Amino acid sequence: MAESVELPGRLAILPFRNKVLLPGAFIRIRCTSHSSVKLVEQELWQREEKGLIGILPVRDAAEMTSMDSVLSQGVGSEIGERSSKVPVSTSDAHKVDGKNHPEVIHWHNRFNVEELSTRGPYCTAKISSLEMTKAEMEHVEQDPDFVALSRQFKATAMELISVLEQKQKTGGKIRVLLETLPLHKLADIFVASFEMSFEEQLSMLDSVDPKVRLSKATELVDRHLQSIRVAEKITQKVEGQLSKSQKEFLLRQQKASEEQELDLKAARERLDSDHYGLVKIKQRIIEYLAVRKLKPDARGPVLCFVGPPGVGKTSLASSIAAALGRKFVRISLGGVKDEADIRGHRRTYIGSMPGRLIDGLKRVGVCNPVMLLDEIDKTGSDVRGDPASALLEVLDPEQNKSFNDQAQPIPPPLLDRMEVIELPGYTAEEKLRIAMQHLIPRVLDQHGLSSEFLQIPEAMVKLVIQRYTREAGVRNLERNLAALARAAAVRVAEQEQAVSVSKDVHKLDSPLLENRLAEGAEMEMEVIPMGVNNHEISTAFRIASPLVVDEAMLEKILGPPRFDDREAADRVATPGVSVGLVWTTFGGEVQFVEATAMAGNGELHLTGQLGDVIKESAQIALTWVRARAADLKLAAGEGTNLLQGRDIHIHFPAGAVPKDGPSAGVTLVTALVSLFSQKSVRADTAMTGEMTLRGLVLPVGGIKDKILAAHRHGVKRVILPERNLKDLVEVPAAVLSSLEILLAKRMEDVLEHAFEGGSPWRQHSKL
Ligand code: ADP
Repeated sequence: MAESVELPGRLAILPFRNKVLLPGAFIRIRCTSHSSVKLVEQELWQREEKGLIGILPVRDAAEMTSMDSVLSQGVGSEIGERSSKVPVSTSDAHKVDGKNHPEVIHWHNRFNVEELSTRGPYCTAKISSLEMTKAEMEHVEQDPDFVALSRQFKATAMELISVLEQKQKTGGKIRVLLETLPLHKLADIFVASFEMSFEEQLSMLDSVDPKVRLSKATELVDRHLQSIRVAEKITQKVEGQLSKSQKEFLLRQQKASEEQELDLKAARERLDSDHYGLVKIKQRIIEYLAVRKLKPDARGPVLCFVGPPGVGKTSLASSIAAALGRKFVRISLGGVKDEADIRGHRRTYIGSMPGRLIDGLKRVGVCNPVMLLDEIDKTGSDVRGDPASALLEVLDPEQNKSFNDQAQPIPPPLLDRMEVIELPGYTAEEKLRIAMQHLIPRVLDQHGLSSEFLQIPEAMVKLVIQRYTREAGVRNLERNLAALARAAAVRVAEQEQAVSVSKDVHKLDSPLLENRLAEGAEMEMEVIPMGVNNHEISTAFRIASPLVVDEAMLEKILGPPRFDDREAADRVATPGVSVGLVWTTFGGEVQFVEATAMAGNGELHLTGQLGDVIKESAQIALTWVRARAADLKLAAGEGTNLLQGRDIHIHFPAGAVPKDGPSAGVTLVTALVSLFSQKSVRADTAMTGEMTLRGLVLPVGGIKDKILAAHRHGVKRVILPERNLKDLVEVPAAVLSSLEILLAKRMEDVLEHAFEGGSPWRQHSKL
């Protein structure tokens, strides 16, 4: 905008047909006539710095055949009548080939044309500046009339912004502008964004006096506000007048994708090509589809996929949709507390909402999509009703095919309608295969790269899996691979820069203010869509040899390794720490238990966001250890009080994650025995199991996930309740063969396995 650049005495003149470049605006032009191309080349492109040209608005004359004739006829009349207030604009010097290349110019200053010359390939003019000096402007700003006008403009502008925000939920960005920019400049920006007639635009340009400009701007903003209001009223009326049957007709028109004859072979191929492994799960889905094919109206069950994040639940559902030739929609039910949120409000009133399911249907625009109801376990219930029962109501009568997550907290009646398919999580080997066959090709493609540009060797993927992720699924793995691809894309781009990719820039006609605000573009008049697609980037750059990811690059891009297998060794080095295995909604996890003693009077302190069951387990563990203190050689003799003069504190890191359940029983005892005997537990061993007061080890759930977690963490030995032996059939053979599984019937068996050379009391007795 009006930067304090000295205007030269003479400027090249570019005529604008029926268009005005308004103060504060950016505009894109595309030159077609010989003279204007020449002008742009000589005045803008061939300059090192920003170029300055004069823009002259001219009225279209019917018989004109070329820009050159516009010049001689149009300019003459404009200058005669319209006085000669015209904008001068600048452009970044910018060298591009091809005369159709668009040029972005932005408003700089008003000027007066004193003499026009049509000699040479384009017009030039002798000019003088019309802009106020800084001192003059400061003087105007003191003027009470100007202050009053500013206030009025601000109030009207605020009102418009509020209306737009309501309509489009645009952020407070424009409000910020209102507070920070000088009002007369803001008025220019507002006005430049409205659609208005050529005459009105000219009259804005004509208003050199800031007071006149502000009052015209206020008028325009107010008019725009009124037109939005009228438009809203009309829509409301029209909607109200549509009869019920018309509405139903309209609705039926939308919202089914035509179902193709289901080809089971193709469906199987699709599932196989999209997903590595998951053999049983894919088989189960094919069976489900086969039943549908034979009996399309069967009230088949709803498929319920259960498993930690990133194991492919969403992508399986979307492959099913593709196999059925239907659209796919994912609806998240996380955080839904209100049944109306699912079903929609029963009656329509202002502010009534359609509910998330209908919302989802609206989004895909068909009435028979494959729907994924995500995070079904994360709904809650409160005073406003029970969303689970509303879901039941929605799911049961029509039996749309649906999928969802996590079995545990789903109410039994809802679960009854579902067929649960569990996805346990992947082994490191499976992750490697998924990454090599699926994730890397997909990530490269998403970043406009190919193996010609970036190669991630298998050994590096293994390192990413071991050192940067510790998850049941492959979501973080995918993210890390994407980070590598992004870095490579930057490197490729840096190596071969200076290639313009904005090959196909579309011309936009001056869009409404709303659009500008919605996009958060502050002052630009034109959004410049870079017609770039991924492959264009690739083909635009020529690169000699591919970038091959190595260990140094991993660290540079992903940072220092986040995990290593020494973690357990370091943590259990001090007596009083043991390694447990727990089950969470993220799959299995390794859980350390820390116990420490301090001076006190026999109290037990527990921390780590523990639930009641786990707290009781800690009590039981302490009682058992105290009762067996002499046998375990933890105390000098029968009747000695282990807690004499001391308190015990047990902590479950990480402190912020809530934990509950009975399966930490054996881990708690082990930590206490380690503490009292001052012997460290083995770092290569993890355990799970409930313990009774008398020391019996009871079976627990989630064995498969827990073993997978142990394997991920580099644990070598796992102590399990003997009665969990049957669960081992579910664990992949490759994982089992890499672990030593130790079965325990009683707590003594656990201790025997947990300490180097057997349990502490044995070592004691050996001495
Ligand atoms: P979920 O819904 O279980 O949280 P997603 O379906 O979003 O997980 O999976 C995360 C990513 O991992 C997706 O890009 C998905 O395609 C990919 N993925 C997961 N499992 C597999 C698999 N077995 N084969 C290929 N890609 C997979």
